[in-house]
Amino acid sequence: MGVVLLALGGTISVPGRGRGARLSGAEITAAVPGLTELGVPLDVRDVQAVPGGSLTFAQFLDVVAIASRAVAEGADGVVVTQGTDSLEETAFLADLVWPHEAPFVLTGAMRQPAMAGADGPANVLAAVRVATAPEARGAGALVVLNDEVHAARWVRKTHSTSTATFASPNTGPLGHIVEGRVRMLLIPPRHEPLPAGPDRKRLEDARVALHVVTLDDDGDRLQGLEATHRGLVVAGFGVGHVPGALAPRLGALAEHMPVVLTSRTGSGPVLRHTYSAPGSETDLRRRGLIDSGFLDPYKARVLLRLLLAAGAGRDDIAEAFALRG
Ligand code: ASP
Repeated sequence: MGVVLLALGGTISVPGRGRGARLSGAEITAAVPGLTELGVPLDVRDVQAVPGGSLTFAQFLDVVAIASRAVAEGADGVVVTQGTDSLEETAFLADLVWPHEAPFVLTGAMRQPAMAGADGPANVLAAVRVATAPEARGAGALVVLNDEVHAARWVRKTHSTSTATFASPNTGPLGHIVEGRVRMLLIPPRHEPLPAGPDRKRLEDARVALHVVTLDDDGDRLQGLEATHRGLVVAGFGVGHVPGALAPRLGALAEHMPVVLTSRTGSGPVLRHTYSAPGSETDLRRRGLIDSGFLDPYKARVLLRLLLAAGAGRDDIAEAFALRG
């Protein structure tokens, strides 16, 4: 019964210059007006006090394992507070492996607790409401900030400082918190969860590079990648295009490792068979690249690494991207 709240680091826990150490989960929740009045039993635990940008796949899978145990033992839902910088990636990682109906809710803050209009308390209150909302059950991992509920699958951090930074450009929010009530407008389709506990050595070895294609890109940085990485995500122009001269290099890499084609634009899918010039999506797919559909480069990298860590081969990987892209 109740909610397990796992406190990581991030702005929500930063006390401000000269104000001492990071705030603990208990200190964060004590500062939330109206939380006690909700009457939700909270089991608050401090996990990794690191900035969002320093989290690792292994650390976050440990967080998911703690949350999963808590739900198996009867918690109605989970709230994770963390730095917002990597939140769109950790949320998707959790979503891919989360096997429960209970909501796995991630939140954070854009303003430090001592700042005027600090958003952490409102975000924690909203996150606890969503974690216990019957309407949010079965929706997987959700990102709750600014009184909006976003699907982990679609959410992006779109602004470096705004409290309205989290948005889902392809879909909009799944729901809103209105007058303290959770109003879910949509529940996204769920897929079979991937293995939540991949072998740690395999996870470590499953290094996936991300290459953002730029004007006049000769792909020089990709030299020797097959020796250091097990997979590559390419963030191409527009619908999934690269300079013609780069296409053979990507094709050669695709003979050694899965190479996934995404768009660097921030929303919309890559195409499959509309353009045919060298470096176009049709050309790249013919050279063995896997298209990511609507998955953005960061989320594609999370999925690819998890699949490689689970021992998936090229065909399984292409199938997984066809299903989830
Ligand atoms: N740099 C911070 C972090 O991700 C930003 C935040 O929490 O909003 O830890």
